[in-house]
Amino acid sequence: MRALRRWSVRHAAGLKALYDACSRIAPAFARPMRLLGRARAEALLAPVERVAKGAFFDCRMCGTCVLSRTGLACPTNCGKGMRNGPCGGVRPDGGCEVDPTMRCVWIEAGEGRARVGAGSGATEILPPIDRRLEGRSTWVRVIDGEKEQVTPLDPARPRDHERVIHSFERACASGVFVTTVEIAPPDSADPSTLIARAERFRGVVDAINITDGAGGNCHMSSAAAAAVLAANGHVPVCQIAARDRNRIAVQGDMLGAAALGVRNVLCITGDDVGQGDHPDAKRVFDLDSIGLLTIARRMRDDGTFASGRRLEVAPDLFLGATANPFVPPHEDRIDNLAAKIAAGAQFIQTQFCFDVTRLERFMERVRDRGLDRRAAIIVGVGTLSSAKALTWMAHHVPGVHVPQGVITRIAAAKDQRAEGLEVLVETIDALRAVPGVAGVHLMGHRNEDVLAEAIRRSGLARPATATA
Ligand code: SF4
Repeated sequence: MRALRRWSVRHAAGLKALYDACSRIAPAFARPMRLLGRARAEALLAPVERVAKGAFFDCRMCGTCVLSRTGLACPTNCGKGMRNGPCGGVRPDGGCEVDPTMRCVWIEAGEGRARVGAGSGATEILPPIDRRLEGRSTWVRVIDGEKEQVTPLDPARPRDHERVIHSFERACASGVFVTTVEIAPPDSADPSTLIARAERFRGVVDAINITDGAGGNCHMSSAAAAAVLAANGHVPVCQIAARDRNRIAVQGDMLGAAALGVRNVLCITGDDVGQGDHPDAKRVFDLDSIGLLTIARRMRDDGTFASGRRLEVAPDLFLGATANPFVPPHEDRIDNLAAKIAAGAQFIQTQFCFDVTRLERFMERVRDRGLDRRAAIIVGVGTLSSAKALTWMAHHVPGVHVPQGVITRIAAAKDQRAEGLEVLVETIDALRAVPGVAGVHLMGHRNEDVLAEAIRRSGLARPATATA
């Protein structure tokens, strides 16, 4: 099946021409189809479509076929159901985070798009799948003249209402070099350890990210932990992952978090469950991060749920997304970033940067597209306690790229922990000199003391005002 799927991408140009020809003549069948009745047409065409597209594209009949837009690579084969480009967990060899035996669908999509002359990256945002259409025929919809509602990657539309700008958003807009830090919520119903961890960063960072089941591991809910921090005078960024909740649940969480004083939300697709402590859990992935952003922005700007139902009071959110400049498909990462910004991201936090040269190349292209002027690009940094731990991360955490030179340098040091901190401080210094980089985001699981020390040594400490 996969061989035929790859063949289809290699022959994307011919198959796309065939698709376009069929699309042109499809309206001619509209009248006969109406005479037959849509239900009968569905009963006749759906099985044929399932067999034909299943054979050539490994199609799963999502009911809203986008093959003509994805270079004939079917995104329903993506383990996270990404609809708008690759996740951040693509392996260095192009393997899928969820199923390493499979090539990332979005690398194939890029190749297919290039073959049909559409450029390798996405040029529009595709809406989330309408789950009511799963298993139904797209051909029937095409014959009936139904069109997919796509959004072009143009600059974010202006906001149509006044918003209160809170401290983190103000800092991002001010041009100062911002600092954020990441904390994993506790494995506890008692918030005191969370409050103690956050206390190290009071008056030091602009915002504190609360992870949402990072690595597929279970902790206290991110919305609850962010609310605890907000109530204690910190400025939290609540991460919301699409992995565990459908669109009904994420909208409820966003409203709940906003009601409890959380203003900053980072929309992520989420790490796969496979490497976490519940590998037996169901992967939800009703939305991808772009779908999440689109819905969050609509709640804020239009004051409606995704369904169109009006909210009584819209949440006042500063929206963010992630980017990973360090893994394939490198060319498409900029288009993916542009799509996230077009969908509503106002700040971007990247994966760990251990390779400043690669980041500089990425930022050159970011600046060429003017994306750094439309969103604050905050680069992820961090350190681990030893070369062994770094090596493990490089090999086992999808999406993390650690150059061998960094590992060798830390391995050769007498005090590996101190050398790791030295590398981190040097990295922060180097990033401050990269045009377009708006700040750094420090990460390190239960490594708060080292991160606080790096902030102090880098001279980054700045007080954040105690409003979320
Ligand atoms: S690497 Fe990520 S985006 Fe690519 S197919 Fe796998 S889950 Fe989907």
